[in-house]
Amino acid sequence: MNILVINCGSSSLKFQLIDSDSEKVLAKGLCERIGIDGSRIVYQPAGGEKETTEAPMPTHTEAIKLVLDSLIDANKGVIKSLDEIGAVGHRVVHGGEKFAKSTLITDEVIKAIEECNDLAPLHNPANIIGINACKELMPNTPMVAVFDTAFHQTMPEEAYIYGIPYEYYEKYKVRRYGFHGTSHSFVSKRAAEMLGKPYDSLKTIVCHLGNGASICAVDHGKSVETSMGMTPLEGLIMGTRSGDIDPAIVEFIAKKENKTAEEVLKILNKESGVQGISGFTSDFRDIEEGIEKGNKRAKLAMDVFAHRVVRYVGAYIAQMNGVDAIVFTAGLGENDKTIREMVCSHLEFLGVKLDDAQNSKRGEDLIVSTDDSKVKVLVIPTNEELMIARDTLALI
Ligand code: AMP
Repeated sequence: MNILVINCGSSSLKFQLIDSDSEKVLAKGLCERIGIDGSRIVYQPAGGEKETTEAPMPTHTEAIKLVLDSLIDANKGVIKSLDEIGAVGHRVVHGGEKFAKSTLITDEVIKAIEECNDLAPLHNPANIIGINACKELMPNTPMVAVFDTAFHQTMPEEAYIYGIPYEYYEKYKVRRYGFHGTSHSFVSKRAAEMLGKPYDSLKTIVCHLGNGASICAVDHGKSVETSMGMTPLEGLIMGTRSGDIDPAIVEFIAKKENKTAEEVLKILNKESGVQGISGFTSDFRDIEEGIEKGNKRAKLAMDVFAHRVVRYVGAYIAQMNGVDAIVFTAGLGENDKTIREMVCSHLEFLGVKLDDAQNSKRGEDLIVSTDDSKVKVLVIPTNEELMIARDTLALI
């Protein structure tokens, strides 16, 4: 069956059409600048050329219509009619405490997702717009919501309760939720397969290190700790996000710079992290180039980033009372051998040993620790779209 996977942002939409039998991507692409001048669709059929077309997209409905038209186009299309799309899987960022797993979308489910909007005001409304646009254009095709937060709903209370008055949890559901759940789940399962061990027998730490970055402790197949919090701002230093800071800094900067709390939070989300420390980029490739040229702030950004990763990995090893496997994934985790070396050099006391030749490879599932390493280290390219397609198929 063909499954259309949709990841809808406020002004963009990514899509993949996946054949669930072969798990191959038949076509993929994205729509950019939805609702803004100069909107365009980038479309690429498997094995074909990438094509960019400018087209008006006042709303997400026009964007999804353009995606569907491309998929059935006589020349570049990969299916003959929309009947060949068996289901749609939607990435939804926040499922709050309501959704501990993926779910078939009904009107009640849409309402329940809307009730989580407060927790992810930038993301959830866009996800719902995508769901409604698909519903309008393909009213009879089943749809499934796959939540970034769902995998972490197994965390114990002591991991998700913040040290603030309990009534804020009771009244407003202020707690840690965690994100990147689809990636952490996919990667930790694949690690167990690669190691030939049952998923529920392993203690695994997944380091999802991309522009957004988070770490997750997966104990016997369940997420028991993760570094992002009620929002994706907490935890690691990221491309443009600060990660953990003393909360008192918000008021301090607001007063010094004559800004509102909202403005300071925007800075913490968009102008901080690697961008803020380096002062010139949020992209680790530029950081590495900067380091090679002797840029001290680029080096500092990398060092602060790695230091924070080590802090979380160490904490999670203690929380789980051990670790069998450490997995690196996402843009930086998959591609950058240096960050893996920097992190693993702090774990030699545990018997972690990297195999340099393996660690220098790229773009595939790899065990990068030596055969005699006491803890296995793996690199696994994440594939959230495939995970969404698998969940979608399972539910319909
Ligand atoms: P993601 O959010 O998973 O797409 O990751 C994006 C980030 O991965 C980018 O900001 C880059 O900093 C980083 N990245 C991607 N490719 C490489 C590479 N070859 N070497 C170092 N960092 C990379």
